[in-house]
Amino acid sequence: MKLDTKIVRASSKPDKTTGAVVPPIYQTATYVLEEVGKDKGFDYTRASNPSRQLLEEHLAAIEGAKYGVCFSSGMSAVDSIMKLLKVGDHVICSDDVYGGVSRHFNQVLVHYGLEFTYVNSSNPESVKNAIKDNTKLLWIETPTNPLLKITDLNAMNQIAKDNNLLFGVDSTFSTPVFLRPLEFGADIAMHSTTKYLSGHNQIIGGAILTNNQEIFDKMKFIQKTIGAVSSPFDCYLTMLGLRTLHLRMERHAENAQAVAEFLESHPKVSRVAYPGLPSDPGYDIAKQQMLGFSGMISFELSGGIPAGKHVMNNVKLCFLAESLGAVETMITHPATMTHAEVPEQERHARGLTDGLVRLSVGIEHKQDIINDLSQALEGA
Ligand SMILES: *Cc1c(COP(=O)(O)O)cnc(C)c1O
Repeated sequence: MKLDTKIVRASSKPDKTTGAVVPPIYQTATYVLEEVGKDKGFDYTRASNPSRQLLEEHLAAIEGAKYGVCFSSGMSAVDSIMKLLKVGDHVICSDDVYGGVSRHFNQVLVHYGLEFTYVNSSNPESVKNAIKDNTKLLWIETPTNPLLKITDLNAMNQIAKDNNLLFGVDSTFSTPVFLRPLEFGADIAMHSTTKYLSGHNQIIGGAILTNNQEIFDKMKFIQKTIGAVSSPFDCYLTMLGLRTLHLRMERHAENAQAVAEFLESHPKVSRVAYPGLPSDPGYDIAKQQMLGFSGMISFELSGGIPAGKHVMNNVKLCFLAESLGAVETMITHPATMTHAEVPEQERHARGLTDGLVRLSVGIEHKQDIINDLSQALEGA
């Protein structure tokens, strides 16, 4: 089955009792047993639920994975993965990860005896040099948020295998339409399904996909134990959005390419990060390992912070909003919004300057998006 067909049809069969095309929402906490020790595969919704299971099977099929587990958020998926580790373990992490991930590592998990080192994972040598005796996990985001840095997954897999590290990839920005990390040897692919996979700003959710049964069993156990589950209704809404993923991603990428080219040629824009621009440092690797460049762009204005603020306060079509990956174009100021909790010094060291603007290009007509940015840039 081709990917497009899997996205539309993977696990969906008409409902057995009514023939309903859309599977029902199993909004239940518990399930009646036929007799002691005999259930119908479900006993309590914290452990499993048919609406969640359907989504897990659907996502696994799309990602080319044997197993999927759906969580209440991208962050609870990340947290559950970290619970595979023990006191004293060390994690190597891409230096430009999602702000909520570094907040969780730096402000919560360090108190539980885990150690983190952030490296520019675009450079495999930096990753190799960060390995210590207690390193257990290599955690990669590609493209990163918000600088859209690209990491070579073949190189990461080599390093992980040579050093016996668990290898996880946050693939939220790529989606399985453009990149499938398990095909590059990753042990775990993780998504915030809040973003492209659900696609319409309708839920908060997360997922992990794996081919490793031991990891799957542990993730199910951890999830069942702590209760980081996606609700049946959220799973249903995610499923509705998910079925048009390939169409949306094609349009996100087509629009983003046009917007990135427009911004690159604009006199008031000093720098554009988009892996689909040949001028981008990640272009060559992105072209090799991705089937498309997705819909996220970040750019810097020559006028610094005041110019950035002017653009963000003067857009009319684009929404000034946190989050990304939905049908509407959204514009964000990472330094004061998504990455406000990354210490200023660290932000600047990472190249996350105060004038940086992040754009999640939606699926409106590209000319309308460009016109909106163009009028907002006028007074900048
Ligand atoms: C949004 C996001 C997360 C966190 O997901 P939530 O669903 O908001 O908890 C993690 N990683 C990346 C790359 C994200 O964009």
